[in-house]
Amino acid sequence: MEIKDLIKKVQEYDKEADIELIKKAYEFAEKYHKGISRESGEPYIQHPLNVAYILAGLEVDIESIVAALLHDIVEDTSISLDEISKDFGEDVKNLVDGLTKLKRFKYEKTRDTESLRKLFITTSRDLRVIIIKLADKLHNMRTIDYLPEEKQKKIAQVTLDFYAPLASRMGMFAIKAELEDLSFKVLNPEMYEKFDKKLTPSKEREAEIKKIKGIIEKKLKERGIDSKMFGRSKHIYSLYKKMIQKNRNFNEIYDLIGIRIVTDTVKNCYEILGIIHNEWPPIPGEFDDYIAVPKKNMYQSLHTAVMALNQPVEFQIRTSYMDRVAEEGIAAHWKYKGTKIKDKGFDKKLSWVRDLLGLGKEKISPKEFREFLKEEFFEDEIYVFTPTTEVIALPKGSTPIDFAYAIHSDLGDKCTGAIVNGRIVSLRHELKHGDIIKILTQKDATPKRDWLKIVKTSKAIAKIKRFLNLKQKVTLIKEPKKKEEREVTSLISIKGKDLKPRIARCCNPLPPYEIIAYKSGTRYILHRADCPTMKDKPKNKKCEAEWNNLKNFKLTLGINCIDRVGILADIINTVSATGTNIIRATSKLLKIKDAEITLTMEFEDLEHLKEMISRIKRIKGVSIIWLNED
Ligand code: MN
Repeated sequence: MEIKDLIKKVQEYDKEADIELIKKAYEFAEKYHKGISRESGEPYIQHPLNVAYILAGLEVDIESIVAALLHDIVEDTSISLDEISKDFGEDVKNLVDGLTKLKRFKYEKTRDTESLRKLFITTSRDLRVIIIKLADKLHNMRTIDYLPEEKQKKIAQVTLDFYAPLASRMGMFAIKAELEDLSFKVLNPEMYEKFDKKLTPSKEREAEIKKIKGIIEKKLKERGIDSKMFGRSKHIYSLYKKMIQKNRNFNEIYDLIGIRIVTDTVKNCYEILGIIHNEWPPIPGEFDDYIAVPKKNMYQSLHTAVMALNQPVEFQIRTSYMDRVAEEGIAAHWKYKGTKIKDKGFDKKLSWVRDLLGLGKEKISPKEFREFLKEEFFEDEIYVFTPTTEVIALPKGSTPIDFAYAIHSDLGDKCTGAIVNGRIVSLRHELKHGDIIKILTQKDATPKRDWLKIVKTSKAIAKIKRFLNLKQKVTLIKEPKKKEEREVTSLISIKGKDLKPRIARCCNPLPPYEIIAYKSGTRYILHRADCPTMKDKPKNKKCEAEWNNLKNFKLTLGINCIDRVGILADIINTVSATGTNIIRATSKLLKIKDAEITLTMEFEDLEHLKEMISRIKRIKGVSIIWLNED
């Protein structure tokens, strides 16, 4: 790729772009990366150039393009941020600064990805930093073949666990899908090949698709409707995930013909829908109007499925603007930079961004939109690190005592001081965003009453109070173990070990599937025996496990489902129909149309549990069932 390709791409959407500035940034970066090559053997400058090109495809502003060209310079060369500020301005400097800071996080060690995501966004300060970071990640993943295999796997796992969901949160689905497929190809090449083969249409199928498209095209032409038609983009990982989550075999997965029609007006969308339904019988229950009722992330489209030429065919119909939002998410909104926003849906969009950032409901005018995206987020929360760079979220004003209790009550009870960023501090010290904290302890230390005045977290308060009460009572009664917890333990047995495993999230182990335990640190994680992440793991860390046939036990199942009308009733009725006793039920809305339900029930034996799982699984709208660990 050459700089002229980038410039051409930028001029396609911004004729007045400051081309000199882009050229200057390019020359600057080239000069400082000179003599350094990528693992592929290409000159290093190809990397920032490609990242900038990906961003130009998203039509981002010029500052972002310039920052992309400079994004690796502070970390890898002798250039300082001041120099960047001098030559390219404060805005570009802040973007590069944000990108440089993000490089310091270690993602592999974190269990709490939600906190990490927030930390990531907070540290970025400016959402454009994340968009650039994702483009950076995408180019690195596209060129990952040149790295040693072990490193590839590690990077792919982090991409799958962290960056792809981040892209998804930003609504950037095209990037999310590509990151997922590139990672999956590294982590499970055989499965990837199998799916790839399955999803590559045969000649006959190509001909069928062409025929169906031809019929529609002719009708649209007759009615004078302007539109473009696309095949469905192939997203291997999402099909794979469906297979795992719905507990299907590879052979049960079949790829429907999917056609996307993009037109210019909403009126056309409905007209096209009418034409399709007129031509072929619609399949009942498959029509969704996300134009009238957009999804929370602003996705809009008409969905339908019909029987065409004796087979089910799925259609997505939308305007080109909706198509952009669907593919690019938040990045699509940069288009509004500097222009007047005459968009009725604007308030809704804003609420989506607000939600993404976890902000409150305060009104923000369209004019402030862009500024708003640059502001600091999560003002009342800080994110700090353990010495092994695990992220802990705490309220603002927290002390090392809060931190210690957040990690473990023993650590809290015995703490005497802390080392923050290499400096010894008192227990009253106020922690700041990004601090690295090591807690100092003494064996015979105990919590003090005046700690109650300085701690901020309810957990610390509860633990300290508890300790003080216990001391008064003198007799120490051993805390009885929570009943349900013990029973989950006994539902799973790990061969030769008397331990309670944690439940893996990747494959969601559940009866009747076979399971194995995998040693991670001092704990065991329970996976499905066929979980792809276990495939290349060392044998000596794997341990046989099985479901015990318990009698009369209590257990909590979690259920993720679409929040359609009556789904909770359907689930409760299904459970009641088997004469099962529900002890406790909770439900909460995750996103619009997405709910999480937990049910604590009494089971007679393992068969009863299996039967329950299989019945709940069959309810329309239920996506995932999981074992609740607590
Ligand atoms: Mn880079």
